[in-house]
Amino acid sequence: MNRTKDSTTSLRIAIQKSGRLTDKTINLLHGIGVEFDNYKRNLMVKTRNFDVELLLLRDDDIPEYVQDGICDLGFVGANEVFEKDADVAVLRGLNYGNCRLSIAAPKNGKLQSVEDFQGKTIATSYPFLTKKYFTDQNVEINVVEISGAVEITPQLEVADAISDLVSTGGTLRANGLQELFTILESETKLIQTNKELSPGKQQLIEKFLVRIDGYQQAKKSRYIMMNAPQDKVDVIKEIIPSMKSPTVVPLAESNMVAIHTVIPINKFWEVMEELKSVGASDIVMLPIESMIL
Ligand code: ATP
Ligand code: ZN
Repeated sequence: MNRTKDSTTSLRIAIQKSGRLTDKTINLLHGIGVEFDNYKRNLMVKTRNFDVELLLLRDDDIPEYVQDGICDLGFVGANEVFEKDADVAVLRGLNYGNCRLSIAAPKNGKLQSVEDFQGKTIATSYPFLTKKYFTDQNVEINVVEISGAVEITPQLEVADAISDLVSTGGTLRANGLQELFTILESETKLIQTNKELSPGKQQLIEKFLVRIDGYQQAKKSRYIMMNAPQDKVDVIKEIIPSMKSPTVVPLAESNMVAIHTVIPINKFWEVMEELKSVGASDIVMLPIESMIL
């Protein structure tokens, strides 16, 4: 599956056609200024403002398409990248589609430690990672490869335990299973082919990376504005863990100023209480679309 390298071809990006990663990946692409529509109806979508086309695929197929250079970039879970043992470069972790690949066995059963699994059968859609996990610990297991509804296999006596993706653990609990060990912590990754790319494509990728970093930084930050007495500016500056010194603008009302700054979202509520206690008022928090540092 090799595509002739030709600088006139578009940069081709693989994304999941329909599933848990689709909306967030589409939002990210729109968020970094890539414009397109009609992605639900087509397998291939041309973008309006870049020489880029999107290929909509099953997530399982993305690592191989990127490895083989059919696509130059791909957005896909680390679970798929590592299960396929794909020869690709991981450019960024994107902090969505977070989950973990875990081993789970019937609750309060005999399988508790890794050694208890010697000679046991595990059902999974991740045979490579599951076997590797046990082999690395010198435990021999049998694997039954199953593509869906893995969590029901212990009740059907098809397997003794399972290895599956977990986010909240609700599905495991509903099936009387207990999560025992984590094989892999996963998130969506941006991957690039290791095949050679034209300078034009390489430049476009660099440009997207700057935008993706800005988009991710912005998602973690909020723009805040507040009014405060002039003589409290120094105290407020100490409270705000901002990246640069805040903007301070005088207000019509004497001895009052408006303070603007950017703070990490997880600090906002903590800081807000403190700000109020030193006299800040009319505190406004706004989302930021992008931030280029
Ligand atoms: P496809 O038809 O594309 O093969 P799928 O059914 O394999 O879809 P989804 O259920 O949409 O896949 O999951 C896609 C990805 O979402 C997973 O590979 C994983 O990276 C991530 N993910 C996050 N949380 C979970 C979860 N609780 N269960 C399964 N996948 C999850
Ligand atoms: Zn899949």
